[in-house]
Order: sequence, then structure tokens, then C-alpha cells
Amino acid sequence: MSYIENNLNQVLSQINSAAESSGRNRDEVKLVAVTKTYGADLINEAIEKGVTDIGENRVQEIMEKYEAVLPVKWHLIGHLQKNKVKYIIDKVELIHSVDSFELAKEIDKHAKKIDKVQNILLEVNVSGEESKFGIRPEECEELCCRISELENVKIQGLMTIAPFVDDKELLEEVFGGLSQLAEKVREKNIPGVSMDELSMGMTNDFSIAIGKGATMVRVGTGIFGKRDYTK
Ligand SMILES: *Cc1c(COP(=O)(O)O)cnc(C)c1O
Repeated sequence: MSYIENNLNQVLSQINSAAESSGRNRDEVKLVAVTKTYGADLINEAIEKGVTDIGENRVQEIMEKYEAVLPVKWHLIGHLQKNKVKYIIDKVELIHSVDSFELAKEIDKHAKKIDKVQNILLEVNVSGEESKFGIRPEECEELCCRISELENVKIQGLMTIAPFVDDKELLEEVFGGLSQLAEKVREKNIPGVSMDELSMGMTNDFSIAIGKGATMVRVGTGIFGKRDYTK
């Protein structure tokens, strides 16, 4: 078995156990394999072994790899600048990182041009770390209302990035916080806004995130190994 196949199987089996031990259906959790810094060959290998969804955090990297990668669903998981929306609008299944009305409006404008309804998540900075992108939890409901008026953008749920710590309680608080926020917004029944998806959990914390209701986990290192940013 290849390195990637072996890693992938391990990640999938950890997802299974986490779903099982929290009494959830395995089918409720989707694996998004995070492919940033990795080349098309490795990505294609993962796709051949069953990966259906890949996540990139830079527009530039999506552009560079798009043609060389086998058919797969692309997710943009990193910060998106308004002036780059036009490059990826025809390529991505889901944008996880919308954090302003202005960005949603720009996505709406470009989606309209190609007759697409772009699925998005709102990125929420649950932990309140200064270094992180994302809206404050208190802003979520109002932003959902405003974005719901845009015809070619559809909110499917929320995303967060937890602090890089090895503190189970803190991580549970952050992931649980995103779940509760989604629940609160769901209760408002904002027309056209769905809170079905919770994108949370990375290599080091996805089991905890699944325990708190994650429907998408974004795993890079666990599948491809440690990234080399010098290349
Ligand atoms: C890189 C990245 C991941 C994956 O991180 P790993 O620790 O390698 O699993 C997940 N989400 C986002 C937003 C990322 O940028």
C-alpha cells in the first residue's frame, strides 16, 4: 500500500470511530483533503484512492493545478480577496471563507455572469484570536440576513479554524461554539439560508470537531504528510 493510501485509510478509520463514538452517522461527515503545497501527481493519487473533495487555500494554487488534477470537487478554504473571485468562480464547489458582505456581493456578481449559484460558508472567528480571519459570532445572524438577499450566493453553513493548541477542552469549546451559533441562526429560519454544513476540524483536532457536529473536516498533513513551504 502506498504512503498516501495508508494515511488516507487511517484518517477515514479515525473519522469512522469519531462518528461512531459520538453517535453520529458516518455519512454525515465529509473528508476534504487539503492539498496546498502538494503537486498534481500526489493529489491525483489521492483522488484515485477515493478522495472526492479537495481544499486549497490560495487562488493562485487552484489556477496552477486545475488543469492537471483529475475531476474532483474543489473547495476554497483560505482567505479570498475580492479581486480574485473571478478566477475561481467557475471552478469551486464551495467557498468556506466568506467573511464580509462585500466579498459575498462580489461572488454574487461573478456567479451571476456564469449563471451559477455559488455555495458558500461564513468563516467565524470563534476563538477570538487576533491573527484569524472571520467574522465575530455576534455578526453572524445579520450577515446571513444581508447575504440571503443575493440571488446567486447560497449560504450552506459555517466554518471555523480552531487555535493550534493541544487542549481538548478549549477545542471542544470552540467547535461547540460554532455548532451552537449555527443552531441559533437555524432557529431564525432566514429564507434561503441553510445551516446544514459545519466545516471544522483539521489533522490534529478533527475527531473532537466530529464530536461537536462537524459535517466537513479539512485534513492535509494527516493524508499527505508535513508540508514544505520553501518550494
Ligand atoms: C492547511 C489548512 C488545513 C489543513 O491543515 P492540516 O493541519 O494539514 O490538516 C485546514 N484548513 C485550512 C483553512 C487550512 O489552511
